[in-house]
Amino acid sequence: MGELKRRRRVKAAVTGLVLGGLLVLGIFVTDTAGKTINLKKHETSKQSQEVFQSNKDLLKKKLGGNQPKKASAKEISQPNKTVPVSPPANPAPEQAVSDQPEQPPAPASVPAPAPAPAQPVGTQVEDTSKTIYLTFDDGPSAISGEIIALLEQYKYKATFFMIDGNIRRFPDAVKLMVTSGEAVGLHSVSHRKDTFYASAASVIGELNQNRNTLLEIAGVDSHLARTPYGSSPYMTDEYKAAVKENSYILWDWNIDSKDWYYKDERYIQSVIDQINNMAGHRGPLVILMHEKRETLAHLPKLLDYLQSQGYQCKAINSTVAPVQF
Ligand SMILES: [Zn+2]
Repeated sequence: MGELKRRRRVKAAVTGLVLGGLLVLGIFVTDTAGKTINLKKHETSKQSQEVFQSNKDLLKKKLGGNQPKKASAKEISQPNKTVPVSPPANPAPEQAVSDQPEQPPAPASVPAPAPAPAQPVGTQVEDTSKTIYLTFDDGPSAISGEIIALLEQYKYKATFFMIDGNIRRFPDAVKLMVTSGEAVGLHSVSHRKDTFYASAASVIGELNQNRNTLLEIAGVDSHLARTPYGSSPYMTDEYKAAVKENSYILWDWNIDSKDWYYKDERYIQSVIDQINNMAGHRGPLVILMHEKRETLAHLPKLLDYLQSQGYQCKAINSTVAPVQF
């Protein structure tokens, strides 16, 4: 009798295990299938792809990827060995030619994606619609400190994409950016279309030199880069591949202040109009400005507006999915 009971128990246990296993397998398959569907859905549009990228970055963040800007051991182990292939003949001017208008911003409204079935917890899209990345190009300059002091009043941070020669010219400004918690990035050596975009080697050569200078002056090994005049149309697929291979993260913008064009307070209304036009835009807004006195003179108006609308202005870091044309 005891033996029979024992056998029944064993049989029940085995059946339980098998059923349990099947159940787990079923959940796994469903989950995987759900993910596959999600992936396909994300492939349908660029915006959705960005959302997917945001998901990945959010996950990365949650997994402890919120590392500081400093280089990883791997990055440190292979730095500085590249010498620019052909250093530009002339140093970059302090106020280089202004960036030309970029492509029109992405369409303001994107159809809301259907609710994702069985989306795993933790991949919820972070609401970055109230996040703004203020970016200042072509510096550092004699007014970098004033820009930073103004930002501090609002507890805002910004990102500075800087030209090699200007970093050497205003080293204290760069150090101040770093100690103030601003993000620092690269913006070429020559700032000349023909020179910078001559080849993949010239693109990488200038970025490497720019990066080495920033590292030498401010002790920050930054891979954040904005190419002169933005990535379109000059950055070919070959150049982009080289940039990626060298671990640079390319940042464009989706709002062009055109401060270089207006040279007065009209750039403020231009930015506000563009922000309004992008209502419903998923993801952060990236505003292109320049380190110019006229820009600084009217900047408080823009910051007042952003504050009144509940925007948070943050510094870009290497975990943020870049906005690219
Ligand atoms: Zn520029």
